[in-house]
Amino acid sequence: MPRIQARRQRTAGQAVTRRHHPPTAGRASPGARVPARAIMARSRFDAALAYAAAGWPVLPVAGMTEGGCSCRRSCAHPGKHPLTRHGVHDATTDPVLIGDWWRRSAGANVGIATGAASGLVVVDVDLPRGGRESLRVLVEAGYDLPATLRSLTGGGGLHLFYAHPTGVGVANVVGGLPGVVEALPGIDLRGDGGYVVAPPSVHASGGRYRWDRRRVVALPAWMWPKRTERPPVVAAVASPTTGAAFCLGRLVGGGEVSEALVAESLLCAALAIGLGEPEAAATIRSGMGAGMAVPRRAPGPLGWQRLRKPERR
Ligand SMILES: [Zn+2]
Repeated sequence: MPRIQARRQRTAGQAVTRRHHPPTAGRASPGARVPARAIMARSRFDAALAYAAAGWPVLPVAGMTEGGCSCRRSCAHPGKHPLTRHGVHDATTDPVLIGDWWRRSAGANVGIATGAASGLVVVDVDLPRGGRESLRVLVEAGYDLPATLRSLTGGGGLHLFYAHPTGVGVANVVGGLPGVVEALPGIDLRGDGGYVVAPPSVHASGGRYRWDRRRVVALPAWMWPKRTERPPVVAAVASPTTGAAFCLGRLVGGGEVSEALVAESLLCAALAIGLGEPEAAATIRSGMGAGMAVPRRAPGPLGWQRLRKPERR
């Protein structure tokens, strides 16, 4: 009896302090399933609570309305970008905070944080945008993508959920996969610091994300980071750090590339890996500004220079 009482007291204590100390996220491991409550959920809010209860941190992302993205702007990532200030860094398993978010934005889609936070690594395949062809290239080259828990995005996409290998970092990659040298258009990897939109969210196409129930299996070893391997260039470009903005800002200053193009590309990359828009925009602005102050020309002859030089003479 005393033991039960002690446990009750602890539980009550946790309830009071929960707001300030969100429960530590659990990690999905091989064999994990989608929580049944999430599959039965009648709303995105209910599903968000179910994922959180399973230890998968969630965040609200823009929903879809009749007129398009709920942000009501002409938007590069309708129904996909985070609604919180720090994007995926705000993802939580705290039901109180989740309740606050969905009270404010009842129509928000549900994002699940990927990587070490949830123990999930997602291979994101956009079938109509090159993903189908890239999958074929992968299989023909002998790279195996074993059957695992997956969701269908409702817009011709496929999310394959694998278990995050414990103790190693898994980067986010756009247009490729770690361990594969070739670019893979239409295939991204969502790892540490990334997120994916999850069922029953509404896709920009109007379709709904839904689960294809299977168990999570281990991330194939060929995608595990290797110590001797340099990180893929695509990952570096997609990382919206001040450093990337600084380097590209220098080329803008040198007249090599348009400021608007660089800013837009960096913002797309930043939103795709889960930064909040205000934070991403501020980072890019300051990085580019610093870079433009020390302009430089492109290191080698660019294609257009080779083409234009004869015209000048
Ligand atoms: Zn939007």
